[in-house]
Amino acid sequence: MQKTPQSILKTIFGYDEFRPLQKEIIENVLQKNDTLVIMPTGGGKSLCYQIPALIFDGLTIVISPLISLMKDQVEQLVELGVDAAFLNSSLSPQEYQRTVDKVKNKSLKLLYMAPEGLLTDKILTLLSTQKIDCLTIDEAHCISEWGHDFRPEYRQLAKIRKKFPHAVCIALTATATPRVQKDIQVNLEFDVSNEFIASFNRENLFLEITPKNNPAMQTLELLRKYPDQSGIVYCLTRNQVDELAAFLAAHDFSVKPYHAGLADDDRKTNQELFIKDDVQIIVATIAFGMGINKPNVRFVVHYDLPKNIESYYQQIGRAGRDGLRSHCLLLFGYGDLQKIRYFIDKMENEKERRIAYIHLDALVGLAETQICRRIPMLNYFGENYHEQNCGMCDNCVRGKKEMVDITVAAQKFLSCIKRTEELFGANHIIDVLRGSENKKVLDFGHHHLSTYGIGKEYSKQQWLHLARQFITNGLLKKDVQYGSLKLTEKATAVLFQNEKVMGMVEEEKPAFSRIRDIDLDYDRPLFDLLRKKRKEIADRQNLPPYIIFSDKSLMEMAAFFPQSRRSLLDMHGVGVTKINRYGTAFLDIICKYCAEHHIKEKQKSGQADIQTMHKPVKGKRHIEIGEAFAKTQSIFELSTQFGIKQSTIVAHLLQYVLEGHNIPAGDMLALSSLTPVEQKTVLATFDRLGTKYLKPVYEELGETIGYEKLHLLRVYYLSQGRKTDGQN
Ligand code: ADP
Ligand code: ZN
Repeated sequence: MQKTPQSILKTIFGYDEFRPLQKEIIENVLQKNDTLVIMPTGGGKSLCYQIPALIFDGLTIVISPLISLMKDQVEQLVELGVDAAFLNSSLSPQEYQRTVDKVKNKSLKLLYMAPEGLLTDKILTLLSTQKIDCLTIDEAHCISEWGHDFRPEYRQLAKIRKKFPHAVCIALTATATPRVQKDIQVNLEFDVSNEFIASFNRENLFLEITPKNNPAMQTLELLRKYPDQSGIVYCLTRNQVDELAAFLAAHDFSVKPYHAGLADDDRKTNQELFIKDDVQIIVATIAFGMGINKPNVRFVVHYDLPKNIESYYQQIGRAGRDGLRSHCLLLFGYGDLQKIRYFIDKMENEKERRIAYIHLDALVGLAETQICRRIPMLNYFGENYHEQNCGMCDNCVRGKKEMVDITVAAQKFLSCIKRTEELFGANHIIDVLRGSENKKVLDFGHHHLSTYGIGKEYSKQQWLHLARQFITNGLLKKDVQYGSLKLTEKATAVLFQNEKVMGMVEEEKPAFSRIRDIDLDYDRPLFDLLRKKRKEIADRQNLPPYIIFSDKSLMEMAAFFPQSRRSLLDMHGVGVTKINRYGTAFLDIICKYCAEHHIKEKQKSGQADIQTMHKPVKGKRHIEIGEAFAKTQSIFELSTQFGIKQSTIVAHLLQYVLEGHNIPAGDMLALSSLTPVEQKTVLATFDRLGTKYLKPVYEELGETIGYEKLHLLRVYYLSQGRKTDGQN
């Protein structure tokens, strides 16, 4: 099989699709253009050089500043069946020689080294006999004196690079400051056009900032929400770390402290225990975190205030590298703020003091904001965030608590009730206001009313919420017998004397969020069995469990119950090497569990579904159904009338419109229960990708809109004659 980035992604890494920018970056590197990659932690930088390394004939050298990072990367690659190794001072002379031999006989694809290692004559001589296709500079901010960890040896990489004229150079960092980016680019003499900057929005991090009232209890409360999960609690001082760790241990949490006051060995042990899932929680000063690659950190608590947004971002960035939902809680105390101010005031240098204040103020702004927390945070990194509601911060999920003027909405609603003679319930009124084309609206001729379609600014959900308030405010009464809404005297005042109405507008649920599978519904007992197996295998090999399989892989297994090698390969992070090594062990557990509990395997993707749905329907049934639909306009009714599933009705209708018939398809929109914004997005996606296959559309929309809904919208789309089905 030909090696393409896509095929390697699936067969080696076991992933279905690229994360944003990965594909473009990989292609750019494969074309041998020097490339600068700026991507947040967890964004997926490693794949950007690992996939090209597997395609190039020659060797890829990876420069990395920390032994722990190198080790982690190499362990992961070896588990994936990739020929990778590192050369550094932690190796015994024999191990070192073995790796050198591998380089000599060309059996390595990736070689990791610290910069000082690469600079030695011995290594340069060794490498001069080899075909080097790629020089990767990881943590490239170490080049810049403006970065938080400048490494002078990194400065010399530019010179070294000239010794490998055929190697493309890729530099990667998670540092967002433009100053550092510029430094890297100038230093390595990169072309600006080959810069790839990903968004710094970490969508899977739930951000919460709350007043610090009773920090120990507040921390406890959060921890209890995530039993048996890994997390970090950051404190300002060593004393605080020890105290809190003891407090949590007394409450039966599996916890260890970490700070510079501990003996080296203890620090190392505690970190190791955490990485290997032997200990769930680390209470630490900011000394903890560098070089930690643990992907399943589910929460980060800031017990004390961080110094500025940059440190806050860096620390919460250690949560959720695996892309699963992770909780970041900051306890914001004004007392802490005073302490930091006191330290700043003691600074000698006036300019430094001023800068420290600017940074601190930005942090306070973030803590005190009433709007989405992502707006000030990303703004700090020079990025504009436009979503109305991220759905992943306390402010957004809480919604707007304040009362706002909803007089105009009330007037629209009330006058629509009046125009329809107080005979209908809220649902119908909302349909008229939102300009629905459903049968009931058209039958009553309500599409001719002046109030028809004047309320599209709110979703159905929001209108229902408003309607409930109108009733509680005494503007409306509900007819007990028929459920129709009647106006009260108070309503007259609103309609004709412009009396004000105050109330709340429910926040719209975010139209799309790319955070997938976050709340994947998985079988917890099975997950625990799989996790136990993983730990057993990991311990036997002295590896962290996540190197064997990520949590997400196990969650998918416990959600889809794959019972053959073929289906196991469909799971996240399961590639060919892993299946050969561990497939049997995990399949045994799943099969046994499923047999005991009479559970059947579930299809992971909607592919089977699509195929049956898009197969031409034989016979004339679809004509019969299409014609019947034109009369009743209700899929539900047809389903009972014909005694077939609603999804089959939709398949018939699809066939019917594909043959050029028209149907009044407004019902599809209503049935899909998508918001107008979502509908528009889906239709626009059909415009771009065509309607022949739904899978690409499903994926393009971040797998957020189910196939059932897409089927409905496709019929609607085609019935509107927007495009024919011939594409794709
Ligand atoms: P970074 O170096 O940017 O912090 P990593 O390269 O370590 O991030 O990737 C973070 C996690 O995301 C890793 O567990 C990695 O395997 C996973 N990952 C990377 N790319 C993808 C992808 N396309 N699909 C699914 N998971 C991915
Ligand atoms: Zn938000």
